[in-house]
Amino acid sequence: MEFAGSPLSLQPCHPGTTSTTLHSCIHQADPTRVEARPSRTPQLPPPTPAGSGGGLVFTPPAGPGGAIVPTPTDNRTVNTSFNETLFGSYKISSIKCKALRDKIVQQTLGALPRSKVNPSEPMCLAWHSKGQCNTGCPCVADHVQYSATELAPMAAWCVIGYAPPAPAA
Ligand SMILES: [Zn+2]
Repeated sequence: MEFAGSPLSLQPCHPGTTSTTLHSCIHQADPTRVEARPSRTPQLPPPTPAGSGGGLVFTPPAGPGGAIVPTPTDNRTVNTSFNETLFGSYKISSIKCKALRDKIVQQTLGALPRSKVNPSEPMCLAWHSKGQCNTGCPCVADHVQYSATELAPMAAWCVIGYAPPAPAA
């Protein structure tokens, strides 16, 4: 088979190659193009100066490794019937519910009022006093609307719970 009068005057790139078909020799291949792809993705943490490992060591970001503390921004639920009159000042308080619950555990603070939904469970402090909580809350059943009257025990509790520590007499 001879290509008679081929419009392309391709020259074989290698001596001895007789093929006149389009070949894939990489005459013009730019060797820098092979390495041109960026090697770093933005998610990767900055390389740590690990002197002993030898090579890149992926250090997991501190936090979600198995931490028990739930992040408040996750699964957040907002109390749309939050009582601003009773709890507005506590909502903006820098005192965290976690700190107050710790005090309850340490028995330096009285127990929370009972939930109207399930009297064997406490009312949700975050839901009623901060106006938001999360779906993983153990008191999620208490995330319901309370009347001002029903909130009175919680309001009374917060007066003490959110009060600045009294000076030692
Ligand atoms: Zn809750």
